[in-house]
Amino acid sequence: MPQTLPTETLATLAEVGKDLYQLGLVTSHGGNLSVRVPGGMWITGTGTMLGRLRDRHISFVHTAGHHEGTSPSSDTLLHSTIYAVTGASAIVHAHPRHATALAFDLDLFKPPDFEGQLHLTDVPVIGPGPLQLERIAGALQSRLVCVLRGHGAYARGATLWEALHWITALEESAHIEVIRRSIGPIRSDTAP
Ligand SMILES: [Zn+2]
Repeated sequence: MPQTLPTETLATLAEVGKDLYQLGLVTSHGGNLSVRVPGGMWITGTGTMLGRLRDRHISFVHTAGHHEGTSPSSDTLLHSTIYAVTGASAIVHAHPRHATALAFDLDLFKPPDFEGQLHLTDVPVIGPGPLQLERIAGALQSRLVCVLRGHGAYARGATLWEALHWITALEESAHIEVIRRSIGPIRSDTAP
């Protein structure tokens, strides 16, 4: 039976996509979103603009692999794998610039701020390569968000809003870390 995208699901996809774009967490055509539902998932189409999502931009991918509607995101297999190995119901992929910049030289990002430590604990950085898909999904079994070095971040949640929260928490912590590093050690005395 053909799938009908519920109005509320479209509204949430569009609002989260718009937030990601307006917060500078994706380029005009970057990133992707999905929501797991019985029988498959709703996922943004390949090359769609997250800040301007309409129903024609959303694909339904059945659990068996075939899809209805527009061509699904090139990350569809990754989303399926994440759903298969975690209890997640939603996934957000974005390109947070400070987190991506820091991840070039880290294997594990430890948020310097209490908020980041509380929510994220730490953030694994996955190196690109033939096993990146399995490694990203594996990292998200125990963590809410991870970074693919040289690319961007993947967050999972019970809802899209929750996954958005983890992406924004990661980027806030990474931005704080970049500022902290740019300031360098602060001298406690002012003597010449
Ligand atoms: Zn990407």
